[in-house]
Parts: sequence; C-alpha cells; structure tokens
Amino acid sequence: MSYVDEVIESVVKKNPSEPEFHQAVKEVLESLRPVIDANEALYRKEALLERLVEPDRQFKFRVPWVDDKGQVQVNTGYRVQFNNSIGPYKGGLRLHPSVNMGIIKFLGFEQIFKNSLTCLPIGGGKGGSDFDPKGKSDREVMAFCQSFMTELCKYIGADTDVPAGDIGTGAREIGYMFGQYKKIKSIYEGVLTGKGLSYGGSLARTEATGYGLLYITQEMLKCNGKDIAGKTIAVSGAGNVAIYAIQKAHQLGAKVVTCSDSTGWIYDSEGIDVELLREIKEVKRARLTEYAAARSSAEYHEGKGVWTVKCDIALPCATQNELNEEDAKTLVANGCFAVAEGANMPTTLEATKYLQDNKVLFCPGKAANAGGVATSALEMSQNSERLSWSFEEVDSKLQNIMVNIFHNLDEAAKRYGKEGDYVTGANIAGFEKVADAMLAQGVC
Ligand code: NDP
Repeated sequence: MSYVDEVIESVVKKNPSEPEFHQAVKEVLESLRPVIDANEALYRKEALLERLVEPDRQFKFRVPWVDDKGQVQVNTGYRVQFNNSIGPYKGGLRLHPSVNMGIIKFLGFEQIFKNSLTCLPIGGGKGGSDFDPKGKSDREVMAFCQSFMTELCKYIGADTDVPAGDIGTGAREIGYMFGQYKKIKSIYEGVLTGKGLSYGGSLARTEATGYGLLYITQEMLKCNGKDIAGKTIAVSGAGNVAIYAIQKAHQLGAKVVTCSDSTGWIYDSEGIDVELLREIKEVKRARLTEYAAARSSAEYHEGKGVWTVKCDIALPCATQNELNEEDAKTLVANGCFAVAEGANMPTTLEATKYLQDNKVLFCPGKAANAGGVATSALEMSQNSERLSWSFEEVDSKLQNIMVNIFHNLDEAAKRYGKEGDYVTGANIAGFEKVADAMLAQGVC
C-alpha cells in the first residue's frame, strides 16, 4: 500500500466519527501524491505525514452561561492547535450548532496549507463552539463569549495562538471575547484579529475575504484569457464573505444575481443590492425574505437553489459541502466556466472532480478565501508595530498577496505536470513550505 493510502486509512481508523476531517485529509493527501512519491523514503522515515495529520494539541471544554430567563445553558468549546511550524497558530472561531471536533479538525487542517500559501508567518489552528448566536440577545451573546474566553484564554496569546472570526463570530463576538481576555490576563495584546477599529482592528479586514476572493478569481480568469467584467455571477451565502464578494464583483463590472442563507435564497435579475443586503444582514440580523419584500426585481425561494441559476462564474460563500455533484452538473450545463470557493470546502470531492473534468476553472478555498487570514496577519503586524495602516495600503497588500498566491499555485501545478489543476497546485505550494520547516525543526 502506498504511504498516502496508509496514512488516510489510519486517519479514518483513529478518528472514526469525523467524516469532514477524513474528507479534508483525503483531498489534500491525494493531491500531494506526486510530491510524496518523489520523497517517500525521507517522509516515511521522518513520519512526516503522520505528524501532519495529528494536531499538536486539541482542547474541548465546558462553556456555561446564563440566558435572559435566568436559566443556565451549557455549550461545548473547542480549540485545535494543529501545526505551528511556520508561525503561531492562526484560524477562526466558528459558532454554529453543527460544530463538533471533526469539523474543527477539518478546518484546522485546511488552515495549515492556506496560511502557508499566503507566504506570511502563520501556523494552522481553528476553534469554536456549538453555541448558536442566532436569536440570542446581545447580553446572552456577551455571557457566552465571556465564559468561552474564560477557558480559551489559557491556551492563546499574541505569539502562541491568535484566533479570529468565522461563521457566527463577527465584530460583536470578537469584541466581547477581547474584553474578557484583557480583563483576565491584564494584558493588551493582539490576541484576536477581526477586532473593531477603535481597539486595534485593521482597516479592510472586514472586506478582506470577499475582496480577496474576487482578486484571485480575476487573476485566474486573466491568466486563462478571460475577463470578469460583464459576467454574471452566482454567489451563495449572505454573510461576511458573500457580502464583500458581491460588492467587489460589482466594482469589477460583473453582475451578481443571487445570494442565500440557511433558510432560502434570492434571485435578483437587476443584480444584488449590496447596501440593502448589508442593512438586512449586518444591522437588522434579519432573514432574506426582507430583501425580497424591499426589492421588486428580487424573487425569494425557500430551501437551496442558487446553483440552478444560469451564470458564468459561481462563488460558493456559505458553508462546507453546499455544492454537490448534481449542482456541478447543472452549473456546467448552464455554461458556468469558473468556480472559486469563498467558503471552506463548499464543494464536495465528487463535484470538484466533475467541474475539473469538464474544464471549469476551479480555485479551491484554501487559496481563494485566504485573503481573510492574510489580512488578519497584517492586523497582527500593525498591532506589533503599534501602528494603523490606511485602507488603501492594506487593500493593496491584499491584492498583491492574492495575485502571488495564484501564481504560486499555478507554478506548483505546472512543476508537477498538472497544469490548470489549481487544487493540486494549492496543496503542493502550501505543503512544501510546511514540510521543509517541519524537517528543519527535527522530531517535535
Ligand atoms: P457568516 O456567518 O457571516 O455567514 C455565513 C453565511 O452562510 C450565512 O448567510 C449563513 O446563513 C449561511 N450558512 C451557514 N451555514 C449554512 C448551512 N448549513 N446551510 C446554508 N447556509 C448556511 O460566515 P462567513 O461569511 O464569515 O463565512 C462563510 C464561509 O467562509 C465559511 O465556510 C467560513 O469558514 C469561510 N471563511 C470565512 C472567512 C472570514 O474572514 N469570514 C475567512 C475564510 C473562510 P444564516 O445566516 O441563515 O446562518
């Protein structure tokens, strides 16, 4: 049996109830086969893959808090510190009822390679809780965040592990968590990113993942003789990534005609009105039915359906496994020629294969959504310098980073005879640096 197959088999055996983690490990290791085959003796001797798939450490803890009725609620908190060979652990905190250890491990594993791809000194980690901020009062969210940080603060620090936002964790939650960290540790440091501008946040961090997604999509199209201007785009999600992806797509001359949340989706023939969407999602924290009610060109549909709309480019920006093989077939039949993942692992393995087999340009999330973590690293730099850069300065660094990421993965794919296979290219480019650092640092 090959080294890759052995390691995949042992991951499944050792972590039987973590299907998302298996999926992420399979996706990465399968595409690394050419590199691993070329270095098999060394990697086997050093147990490099076995070390890569086993987190440095993982924490699971009780998060008790009191709701508005005086009832004590108990959630579970997680933090997985996966790999710090190239820098402090870095990765978001997801607050969603679906969160469990397998999901946090899949996200943390992917984060290692994404962070490496940015060429910035950040390792991979991820955390979160099964707490659902939806429908909770501000006081309840604060009570949860304070309790969560009371435990988490023991494991994190500006040079150790620097969490950030993710699904369900926005500026409000980061603010409450930062306040609690400061109170307990009596130290003012850049321990979290995605902070508010008045207390150490970076300009353009809010926009970074969505903007970065469009910068890399634009570069991918350009290198394939295509232009983004004038194209029709389908976006899923209506959160942080989706909103700023839509805004930048419009600025680049494309038209985004869809968005979605976990209950339904919008088709707007005139193009999504971003300001209206922001008002509904960021200010009122309301459902998309309100969008349709406020705009005559918009239709609201219950359930899932964004990928049935005819488009040139698809940008999944909601959650994992939201674009399956059937969706991929519909997209191809409708003439879609590019897919770039704003969310983490939104496309199933079968759907990715179908898209690639049908010559759809496919940019994987670990490259396409790396703008968020890259700008988080820029926030860390500003905090260390005790300086704040202008929006334009951060945005221009972000653009350069995204363009470089594309060229790095394109080059890595070509080097291994896989031209145009950006999934393989991203995994190889991200892996090579981490593998070098791990080997250089000895058995640890
Ligand atoms: P938000 O919480 O801001 O938004 C998530 C959006 O996806 C919401 O519209 C939500 O709908 C929808 N959604 C969530 N879960 C589901 C589900 N199970 N089915 C259908 N729709 C769902 O999160 P972000 O925009 O920050 O994150 C979106 C994705 O991007 C995630 O995969 C995240 O890991 C990834 N990502 C985010 C980064 C960032 O900087 N924010 C950086 C890199 C990756 P509803 O409101 O109804 O729940």
